[in-house]
Amino acid sequence: MYQTFIGLEVHIHLRTQTKVFCGCRSAFGDTPNTNICPVCMGYPGVLPSLNIEAMRMGMMVARALSCHIPEKTWFERKQYFYPDMTKNYQISQFASPLGQQGYVDIEGKIGSAIISKRVRIRECHLEEDAGKMIHAGAVSRLDYNRAGVSLLEVVTEPDMETGEEAELFIQQFRRMVRYLGVCDGNMEEGSLRADANVSINLPGEGLGKKVEIKNLNSSRFVRLGLAYEISRQGDLMDAGKPIIQETRLWNEARNETLPMRRKENAQDYRYFPEPDLPIFAPDAAFLQSVDSAMVELPLPRIRRIISAYGLGEEQAGLICEEKSLADYFETAVSQAEAAGLAKNDAGIKIANWLLQDVKRILGKEGMDISDIGAFRLHPARMASLAVMTAAGKISGKTAKQVLDAVAAEDKDPAVIVEERGWQLLSDPAQIACAARTVMQTEAAAVTEIQASATTDKRRSALTAYLVGKVLAATGGKADPKIVNSQLEELLREAAK
Ligand code: ADP
Ligand code: ZN
Ligand code: MG
Repeated sequence: MYQTFIGLEVHIHLRTQTKVFCGCRSAFGDTPNTNICPVCMGYPGVLPSLNIEAMRMGMMVARALSCHIPEKTWFERKQYFYPDMTKNYQISQFASPLGQQGYVDIEGKIGSAIISKRVRIRECHLEEDAGKMIHAGAVSRLDYNRAGVSLLEVVTEPDMETGEEAELFIQQFRRMVRYLGVCDGNMEEGSLRADANVSINLPGEGLGKKVEIKNLNSSRFVRLGLAYEISRQGDLMDAGKPIIQETRLWNEARNETLPMRRKENAQDYRYFPEPDLPIFAPDAAFLQSVDSAMVELPLPRIRRIISAYGLGEEQAGLICEEKSLADYFETAVSQAEAAGLAKNDAGIKIANWLLQDVKRILGKEGMDISDIGAFRLHPARMASLAVMTAAGKISGKTAKQVLDAVAAEDKDPAVIVEERGWQLLSDPAQIACAARTVMQTEAAAVTEIQASATTDKRRSALTAYLVGKVLAATGGKADPKIVNSQLEELLREAAK
């Protein structure tokens, strides 16, 4: 067995309105080359200026990753030539990135693998994205709309050991930046991109020769690409063959990694400080603005929701998958609480409805559970449904029908229940009346219940049978608890 080392380099597009060093619009999918100007096209003599929002969002991520934020952070020029970058250098950060030496805990499941791990973060730095090359047969087209878009790169230490851990890292990092509202996390559109570095070695020998896998545009490909690469490197080691330090591409169609370029020596990018941008020294007010933009992060929120509302681990995880859903959930529960319901009772009811019924209803309308915030089933309606169910006004089964009707008709649950006559029958006198009739028509059962030779088991089966009959006689509307108690009382009386 070999020891495996995996380090990730994750890039995210920050959701700033404009690009990082100029005022051009930052958006995905606009007509090519419409969001460009002399600065992001790298004309000579132009001056970049820092988009402070990008710096704020970058520092939010740094904080969320428990990074040290240095007193001074600055930019460097990273020189290389590529057609998607007209300046022939990229403004990036090298010597003093905005976030340094942090860590993040990942916890959860991928398939059957249960993962709980701390991954050290080497650094996070702010840079500009390059343009996009679109290869179409013999021609390559260039779209510079993406050139200069705010990009944050997060580099981990090689602390992961399996493809599953790396996949979970990506998923949880994506969830984190979405919670922070700094990135939409759309891997297909390239707003979150990951390169995976992996090496293997004999135990105790430390890091091996690293292979970098690019082109991983889903977290699943991160797992698959790494699994492939770990086994490929293992086969080479077994055969006593050398592992070549190189960059490989994940080929989705062939389910394998293929060589792209050799990377034997560290490339020399001739970094030097960007002379056109001042050193950035965040003052107290700026750091305060970063602090106040922070939100409770997913993992602590899951833990809190488990203990505060009595949800199971898996259920809490699902509720916290999207911040909008977790917010909705907590708002609805607190409104039910304000109406007198116990927190746990409301929490469990509402979580079940959200994860089963509401998810299904939204799905039918082509919406996702994260769209719940803008849906007709607003938190107050959910709270009132929980209160009605807890008070025995409607049955649990009816509650689910009410959800469908509220969604279809955009009316409050109380109105739906009233209009359709869905209230449970809870008047003891009325229920007793129905029970008496049933006891007459089912006299044989009553006699058997009262016979001393009847076993307890048989007796309770017969009672359940009578309860069913009474429920049927009330059109399924009677509150089963009251049916039970009334029936027992009548049977006791009849036995005297
Ligand atoms: P490069 O200079 O090639 O970019 P870095 O040292 O900057 O390499 O590391 C880039 C990423 O690769 C980091 O996430 C790091 O954790 C990971 N990494 C570095 N060396 C190894 C190795 N030998 N095996 C696995 N991952 C590695
Ligand atoms: Zn521009
Ligand atoms: Mg590097």
